[in-house]
Amino acid sequence: MPKKISKVLIANRGEIALRVIRACKELGIQSVAVYSEADEGALHVRHADEAICIGPPESANSYLAIDKIIDAAKQTKANAIHPGYGFLSENPLFAEACEKNKITFIGPSADAMRAIGNKTSARELMEKANVPIAPGKNDVDRNDTKTILTEIKRIGVPLLVKASAGGGGRGIRLIENEKEALEIIDLAANEAASAFGDATIFLEKFITGARHIEVQIMGDAHGNVIAFGERDCSIQRRNQKLIEESPSPAVDEELRTAICNAAIEAAKSCNYQNAGTVEFLLDEKTKQFYFLEVNARLQVEHPVTELVYGVDLVKTQLKVAQGESLTNLFPTQPTPRGWSIECRINGEDPFSEFMPSLGLIGSLELPNGPGIRFDSMIYEGLDVPLFYDSLLGKLIVWGVDRQEAIARMQRALIELQIGGIQTNIPFHQELLNNNAFITGAFHTNWLEENFVMPS
Ligand code: ADP
Ligand code: ADP
Ligand code: MG
Repeated sequence: MPKKISKVLIANRGEIALRVIRACKELGIQSVAVYSEADEGALHVRHADEAICIGPPESANSYLAIDKIIDAAKQTKANAIHPGYGFLSENPLFAEACEKNKITFIGPSADAMRAIGNKTSARELMEKANVPIAPGKNDVDRNDTKTILTEIKRIGVPLLVKASAGGGGRGIRLIENEKEALEIIDLAANEAASAFGDATIFLEKFITGARHIEVQIMGDAHGNVIAFGERDCSIQRRNQKLIEESPSPAVDEELRTAICNAAIEAAKSCNYQNAGTVEFLLDEKTKQFYFLEVNARLQVEHPVTELVYGVDLVKTQLKVAQGESLTNLFPTQPTPRGWSIECRINGEDPFSEFMPSLGLIGSLELPNGPGIRFDSMIYEGLDVPLFYDSLLGKLIVWGVDRQEAIARMQRALIELQIGGIQTNIPFHQELLNNNAFITGAFHTNWLEENFVMPS
């Protein structure tokens, strides 16, 4: 039986650690931060009730060190752990280590993670649950060239070779013709082995001109699963999301119901608990959608859903983790109101190939006023460490409709001024004024195919 959560250790850093600490504070729950030596001056360390240094800057010996994090939880008597996103959030061994030590893991079970954490097994499960998947071939044996070539003919080019354990936009390669296929598959398998410690790869039909549509789901310990509508994350560079919005300009009421129902089926097929995201590709012309993967954790872009659905997803995570029922928390199906857009503010230089640009934040002016939210880890004088990803914060706006949300984001992007390092703010400004963005006519390859950053 899940027990009441009194103290949460946050096994993460950056803006997401702060996000969780804030939810804990509002619920009267104590919080414990863990940090690496590179994060001594970080805001999550300052804001938490307690903070413990868990090792050197390298994630492998700090934010990814299961034993150290469990020790920190025991030492501080935290009875729950929130994993944030990235790092250990989708690691079943971590969920199991929590369970073994009688610490509530705020997320799905290790079994659910195993069932869907791996893209190949997720595809198999979805096929059984009648959730549509893109044509493809699972478990490709890189040495069996005969089968590979037969499968490529059957699926048709272009297609993708994907790492089963891949994530964060990495481990995906395009095969444009049969001639290059074997070479690319070999490369992909080698890369998958070194980047993710697992050489398993699979083939998937490349859905041209598709939109990335994902559904926010939440499951409780009583078998209930609800969906909080969709997010459109089609503005991507190198398969990484840059702008997300909810709702999607391409989704009407009928499609929303269909895609949310598919996401709920996907979640139920593995007894999914807590927050998760079911990702799909949508072919706008045919309205056909295809399952991509489940992200078994809170998502970077969860705030756009929060603003449109008037829900606090992190507080809901904490509540369902201690056994509360979704039917009590949400007696009626939550409905969307207005429009929300998020821009990921990264420390990278849009004028030179988005090269990482981290270091000392010399000055900072924050956006403000109606409908603006800035979830961030930066402050004036912070020396942003190079060891982690380049996300500095997320600028999120809400408006009564898409037009107001866009105008508000344009204003906020002018108000937000980060001095000392390069950021992608000029890129977002340019994009928010782009006609295709304004009319909503874009897909996952649109940015790379059509958008040029003026110098
Ligand atoms: P979202 O859809 O929430 O943006 P991403 O896939 O971009 O999720 O990943 C969010 C964070 O998790 C990023 O910091 C990313 O680097 C990290 N991440 C996701 N999957 C993996 C993985 N398999 N291995 C390592 N890091 C990952
Ligand atoms: P990750 O785990 O890195 O997030 P995903 O499988 O979710 O990997 O894919 C990331 C992005 O790659 C998608 O949002 C989409 O832009 C692109 N992509 C993935 N699969 C396909 C596909 N079959 N056809 C076209 N684009 C795809
Ligand atoms: Mg994905």
